[in-house]
Amino acid sequence: AKQSGKNCYALFDPSADQRRKANSTAIRKMASAIESGQFLLHYQPLVDCRRGRVRAAEALVRWNHPLMGLLAPGEFLPLIEHDDLIVQLGERTIADALAQIEAWRVTGLEMDVAVNISARQLHQRDFLDHLDRLLAPYPPETVRHLKLEIVETAALDDINAVADIVTACQRLGIRFSLDDFGTGYSSLIHLKRLAPAALKIDQTFIADMLDDSMDLAIVEGVVGMAQAFRCDIVAEGVESIDQILMLLELGCDNMQGFGLSRPLPPDSFQDWVRQFTP
Ligand code: C2E
Ligand code: CA
Ligand code: CA
Ligand code: CA
Repeated sequence: AKQSGKNCYALFDPSADQRRKANSTAIRKMASAIESGQFLLHYQPLVDCRRGRVRAAEALVRWNHPLMGLLAPGEFLPLIEHDDLIVQLGERTIADALAQIEAWRVTGLEMDVAVNISARQLHQRDFLDHLDRLLAPYPPETVRHLKLEIVETAALDDINAVADIVTACQRLGIRFSLDDFGTGYSSLIHLKRLAPAALKIDQTFIADMLDDSMDLAIVEGVVGMAQAFRCDIVAEGVESIDQILMLLELGCDNMQGFGLSRPLPPDSFQDWVRQFTP
């Protein structure tokens, strides 16, 4: 009875109606902000700490809001994750990342760039057509630097459709990573069917691994599994030297985190990379 009472309340809740209106206003504002180019990408280095090499950059979207300054995705993505706007923003992001790969190449920096793909984007019927259109202006030397990161959500349960898309992309030379591995709806079937190029171990496991033997065991297990599947392994959210040393000991060489570098604007990223190639 309590449950249905709650539902009724939600249906006739005037504040819920106000929230919906506020949301649609916010979504409209975001649409025009995308139109006027207020979204930009910062790049966080992904480093092979054993060999001292920068392996790639992860593109992370920011909203350069005229009044509020630089906003992180947590402040605006939830608002549009069920709206087609996230598809539009996603396409814009891929286009920007490709332009950045090309711009860096021209100055002699060959850098892989990983772009985050929302489940809604991946499940779009014409995702591949859109991707084709975005890739068309670029030579293969640029296209092969693009990587895609997908988060395993319940939406990935149409595993056959997703596997087809992933295979088609892999044929174009685009590699996939499974993001936030070990959390959410992650399932080993994704590892088997999607054959990702890399697994990114979620930062929550890295954060506690030095104090919690369970987290350490999980990290160790995921590293072993990645090795068995011959896919790359990346530790996310690496903040301390002790974490770096432990990860190296476990055989996880590729790391990303504030302890190496925060996400940076493109020019600062390029400067940061230069310290590895004097
Ligand atoms: P993610 O893909 O797991 O990206 C890593 C997030 O962790 C980034 O947050 C990054 O700034 C943060 N991070 C990196 N190193 C550390 C560390 O050492 N400690 C801590 N505490 N955090 C660290 P950010 O930029 O706020 O992005 C949050 C999430 O938003 C991303 O998580 C990703 O799921 C989503 N996102 C970002 N850009 C895009 C995009 O262009 N498209 C889509 N669909 N999602 C995006
Ligand atoms: Ca990611
Ligand atoms: Ca992640
Ligand atoms: Ca995450």
